[in-house]
Amino acid sequence: VERRRLLGLLATAAAAGLIAGIPAGRGWIVGRLVPTATGPDRYRDVGRLRPEPAVGRPVPDPHPKNGTEVSDDQDAPSGADDRRAATLAVISRDALGLAPARSGGRSHVIERLTLHHSAVRLAEMRLAPSRLRGHQDYHLAQGWPDVAYHYGVDPAGNVYALRDPSIASDTFTDYDPAGHLSIVCEGDFGAQAPTHVMLASVALLVAALADRHGVSPTTLGAHRDHAATACPGDGLHRALPALRRRAEAHVRAGGLTIDLLDGAAGAVRVAVIEAGG
Ligand SMILES: [Zn+2]
Repeated sequence: VERRRLLGLLATAAAAGLIAGIPAGRGWIVGRLVPTATGPDRYRDVGRLRPEPAVGRPVPDPHPKNGTEVSDDQDAPSGADDRRAATLAVISRDALGLAPARSGGRSHVIERLTLHHSAVRLAEMRLAPSRLRGHQDYHLAQGWPDVAYHYGVDPAGNVYALRDPSIASDTFTDYDPAGHLSIVCEGDFGAQAPTHVMLASVALLVAALADRHGVSPTTLGAHRDHAATACPGDGLHRALPALRRRAEAHVRAGGLTIDLLDGAAGAVRVAVIEAGG
């Protein structure tokens, strides 16, 4: 009976891994499973940043074709509650090479998630980090305190931390960005289709941010829903219903914690991206 129970637990863990660790990022999203508290403390726990020391971290496989790595955490205690959460790797501002944010900006309470695109084709995947730094340069030149968006996702599925989420976005369009958690997808999705890995990463990021900020994935919308703009392009806009469903499924499967890639691990990640890996 004990053996059957063990096998049952293993099957449950494997199923949780398959559901919670849906591949995203072609080798960039490390879907390592970690135990997550449940019950009243779950949101608090999920919402906590869990950076790990750079030393000893596995170096991500730079070959996109190899896909996401998801593995069971053998050391996790197995008990009556087997809920686990996947981890979403997010490249830190420092690793990306953003300048420090200026002081100022409006603090706000996050109520919804909003998708944008940069409206400019990205010629090569390796140019994504420099494109994001370029956004910051341009936005600082507007007198804004920082890059306008809170998170970025590139066509290879890499996810980047940008503006401090507690500071409202800035915008060139006529709407109040307070309350919006802004995610920019690199590319022009009026002219091109988003990649599958980009969409997979956006769904994972939406799930992680929904948990962290206590908003539902169903609040995910598009810039064009709030202002007179084509942003984020028809190609990304039509993906919204599927993105909401996928993000909700991730949340139901146990949610995701954000694993901030900073220090040496983040620097290596960005160097590999910029080398065209
Ligand atoms: Zn926009």
